Formats: sequence, structure tokens, C-alpha cells
Amino acid sequence: MGGGYTGLWTAYYLLRETPGITVAVVEKEIVGFGASGRNGGWCSSKFPVTPGMLEQRYGNRAARELMLAMNASVDEVAHFCDEEQVDAHFHKGGMLILARGVHQLALIRESQAQCERLGLGDQYRLLSAEETNERLKVTKVRGALYAAENASVHPGRLIRGLARAVERRGGVIYEQTEVTSFAAGSKPLLRTPCGELGARKALVLAGEAYLSRLPQVHRCVVPIYSLISLTEPITAEQWSQIGWNNRESVASASLTVDYLTRTADGRILFGSRGAPYRFGSRISDQQDRHLKTHSRIHRRVIEWFPMLNKTTFTHDWGGAVGMPRDWMPMASFDPATRVATARGYTGQGVSTTNLAGRILAALILGKKTAQTRLPMAQRTSPNWEYEPLRWLAVRYAQNAFLRIDDAHDNGRRAPFDTPLAEFLGKH
Ligand SMILES: Cc1cc2nc3c(=O)[nH]c(=O)nc-3n(C[C@H](O)[C@H](O)[C@H](O)COP(=O)(O)OP(=O)(O)OC[C@H]3O[C@@H](n4cnc5c(N)ncnc54)[C@H](O)[C@@H]3O)c2cc1C
Repeated sequence: MGGGYTGLWTAYYLLRETPGITVAVVEKEIVGFGASGRNGGWCSSKFPVTPGMLEQRYGNRAARELMLAMNASVDEVAHFCDEEQVDAHFHKGGMLILARGVHQLALIRESQAQCERLGLGDQYRLLSAEETNERLKVTKVRGALYAAENASVHPGRLIRGLARAVERRGGVIYEQTEVTSFAAGSKPLLRTPCGELGARKALVLAGEAYLSRLPQVHRCVVPIYSLISLTEPITAEQWSQIGWNNRESVASASLTVDYLTRTADGRILFGSRGAPYRFGSRISDQQDRHLKTHSRIHRRVIEWFPMLNKTTFTHDWGGAVGMPRDWMPMASFDPATRVATARGYTGQGVSTTNLAGRILAALILGKKTAQTRLPMAQRTSPNWEYEPLRWLAVRYAQNAFLRIDDAHDNGRRAPFDTPLAEFLGKH
């Protein structure tokens, strides 16, 4: 179930490993309708859980192996594009996490120290403000953390290319077919309004944020909206002022999350969280645009790049990411129930889904690989609380993150509840 990256990577690796196997992908809308077709294009070695938290939870070695597997996943996406001749605008330009303001300097230094502890210090380099400015001119920059193992892609091109590769290898994709429930056990099946689809070997639930709509797994993730605005193509003169010639994926260390891509056609894509969580984990097309958040993004673009004050925005959109209760993605298969699932990427799924797809394919085929030993394999996250607790906690955290970032941006003291909000953001 699910024609996004998770479902299609899994299908692709199953078909590649076992030519002739029967694989069907059932998609409610069209391939790429979900986050996979509308993301910010970071194909990143960044994992949804920080290196420090990974080390704390799983130990130094497992954390390091996971980080290295993420690096390899970026290269695996490149390899796939090459081999399957998918022009997804794959560009390995590295990643810059900017410290905008002194308070963010401590955060990027801490991130670098965490990577250092895992023996990856050489891959994550701290840059001074001057070194950062040589790459990219953004206001208020005090320094940056740079990593080379990061690429950007055109999400729509990648998902369409992946779907074609799956079909070329014999997979069948049923679009406009909604899964309404599933049955686990010796005769697992997906139920749809058009009929049932039985599986001999395994069902794969790959719906990410939309899994919260399936009654059987309703509380496994909460849908959190991430919104994006896209500028018109920037003129050559403006680019010469901004720089950004390597087209690194760019973010700052703010709590409300910002992520930027210089697209292949010369626009700035600016994404951010902040649109409110809806009671009962509601997902609707209306939530794809949120005037307040999109206006905030437009203001931030101009605040970051004052020379763009006359630039217009041609596109505003958004979508839901799936957030698990412990922030940790999973890729699991239970041979007893024959249900496999991978989910919980919290907005960092372009490369992580590739890793998850390879893990699921190996688990379903009964193979032990280096990936199936990683901490995200064969695990599950706890369920979220029942409403109204979920709404209260998520809305409180969203609101607090906005207040804390606004206070920092405007030179005010951090709100008194900052430690509580930061604690909730990690637990
Ligand atoms: C705005 C935005 C920006 C993002 N930016 C980035 C980024 O820059 N880098 C990054 O790494 N990650 C990013 N992400 C996250 C990343 O896109 C996701 O983690 C990834 O695409 C998840 O893939 P998926 O296949 O698991 O889920 P999805 O792509 O959401 O696919 C799930 C599919 O299941 C289908 N479906 C749902 N319910 C049913 C049903 N009942 N029956 C049948 N089919 C169903 C949906 O229509 C959908 O196509 C972003 C996400 C969003 C929303």
C-alpha cells in the first residue's frame, strides 16, 4: 500500500533481487501524490534522529553504522538514477547548516561534536562566517556546519522515474485505488472498494503520514505539515550576489525547521514547519496551503536574502510528514503476521526511504544484510497518546517553537518555557 518512495523502493529492490516475483503497488491517488512528490528535494545523509541521540539510544557503533548507511543511501540514489537512466536532477552539492545568530552557533558546534564522537568528524566541518559567506550570502550568518555527503533531487522526477523502473521490472501499479483496511496472518490481504488483493508473501504498509487514516494503525504517526514556497527564477545578477554556486542543501538550526534548495532551474525553494496540527490527526487538501505560514516563509526569504525584495513567489504548497512518538523511523517485517511496514521519517525521507526499502526487501526475502542489522530495522515505535492529549502536546510544542524562534530572531530573551519545549521536542 502506497505509491510513494517507501512503497516503490521496496517494490524495486524486491524485483531486482528476485526477478519474476509478483509485486503490486496500490495507490489511493497517483504515484507521488504524497510527500514523495512534493518534498524539498534534500536527498540527504541527515537522519531524523540526531547523532547524539542515536548514540545515547543505541551506542556508539550502531549510531556510526547508521550514519554511514545514510551516506551510502545518497550514493545509492545516484547509482539508481544512473543505472535506470532517471534524470532526477541529482546533484551532490553538500549540505550547509547555518548558524544564524549566536544562539545557533552552540547548536552547530554540538552537532559537530556529536559527529566527532562517532568518528565522523572529518565529514562534518565547522565553517567560519567568512567561509560560509564565500559559499552563500545570507544575513545574520555566524558560521555553518558543512557536510559533503548530501545531494538534491527533483522529487517529482525521482518518483516518476522510480515508478517506471518498477514497471519495467514487472511490477504492477494500481492508481486511484484506496486501501480501506488490511488483514494480517496466513492469508494477508488489502481491502479496497474495488475488491481484495491477497498476498502470498507479505503486505507492505507504506503510507507514512496517511497511515494515521487507517483505523488499525491510527496512532502510529502524527501528520505534521511542512510547507514550501518557490520563487520565480532568480536573475543571473542576483545569483552573483548570493553565490550558492555548489547548490548545497541549506538549513538553519531553528526549531521551526527551515530547508532551502537552489533548484536546477535557478529558483529558491524555501520550506518550513509551523502549520498547525489538526485534532484527530486530520489530513486534508485544504491544509496544503496555510496563509499565515506561507506569508511567514515569504518574509523569511526576504529577510535571508534582502536583494530578493522584488522577487515574486510562483508556487506555495505543502504536505504531511509522518512523525513517530519516539522520532525514530522503522522498517520491519513480522513473518507471523506477514505485515511489513516502514515509516516515521519526520521530513527526512528522500534517502531514508531508500534505506528502508532495501531493509524491507531483504527482510521479506529472508536475507540478513548489513542494513537489516541497523537500529531502524525490526523495531517499532510506541503509539501516540489518545486525543485530546495528542492535540494539546503537539500544538503546545508547535506554538512554543514558533515563540522561541521569534524571540531569537528579534533579539528578545528566550521564553520561560524553552527548556520544557526543547525537552518535548526530543521525547
Ligand atoms: C513539504 C514536504 C517537504 C519535504 N522535504 C523533504 C526533503 O527535502 N528531504 C527529505 O529527505 N524529506 C523531505 N520530506 C519527507 C519525505 O518526502 C517523505 O519522508 C517521504 O517522501 C515519505 O515517503 P513515503 O513513500 O513513505 O510516503 P508518501 O510519499 O507520503 O507516500 C504514501 C502514499 O500512500 C498513498 N496512500 C495513502 N493512503 C492510502 C490508502 N489508504 N490506500 C492506498 N494508498 C494510500 C498516498 O497517496 C501516498 O502516495 C518532505 C515532506 C513534505 C511533505
